[in-house]
Amino acid sequence: MAIRMIREQGEDVLRKRCKEVTEITPKIVEIVEDMLDTMYEANGVGLAAPQVGILKRIVVIDIGEGPIVLINPEIIETSGKQTGNEGCLSVPGKVGVVTRPNYVKAKAIDITGQSIIVEGEELMARAICHELDHLDGVLYVDKVEGSLEDVEAEEE
Ligand code: ZN
Repeated sequence: MAIRMIREQGEDVLRKRCKEVTEITPKIVEIVEDMLDTMYEANGVGLAAPQVGILKRIVVIDIGEGPIVLINPEIIETSGKQTGNEGCLSVPGKVGVVTRPNYVKAKAIDITGQSIIVEGEELMARAICHELDHLDGVLYVDKVEGSLEDVEAEEE
C-alpha cells in the first residue's frame, strides 16, 4: 500500500475517458488499496483513478460511513436536486457551487468482482456524481455556478 501523487487540474490525465476494468487482477487490488490510502491521507471523501494518474474506471468513496469501492460504475437512477458547495482534491484550496441530483443509485462491481448497487442522498449522491464524472474527464469546475472560491482550512 502506498500514497500516490494526486494529479491537479491542468494535467491531461484528468481530461481523458477512462477504460473499463476487464479483470480484477492483483494490480487492480493494489491500485484500489493505494487509492484508499491516498484519499484518507488527503482527507477526501472520494477519489477517482485518473486523480492518481490511472485511466481506469475505478472510484473510492468514504463519506464517513466506511469505504466504498466502485469498479466500472454506472448511474442507473437519479431524482431530485441539490445545490451546494463542492471541492476536489485535484483542485486544491477551492470550492464552488454545483447542482447535482439529491438521490443517486449506481451499479458497479466491487473489489471481489461481485455486482453491487450503491445508493445515497445528499453528500453520498454528490460524491457518486462527482467521482463518476472524473472517469469521463469531467471536473466539477466545468459545472460550477458562479465562480470558484478560495477555502481556508477545509475542502469538501
Ligand atoms: Zn474530484
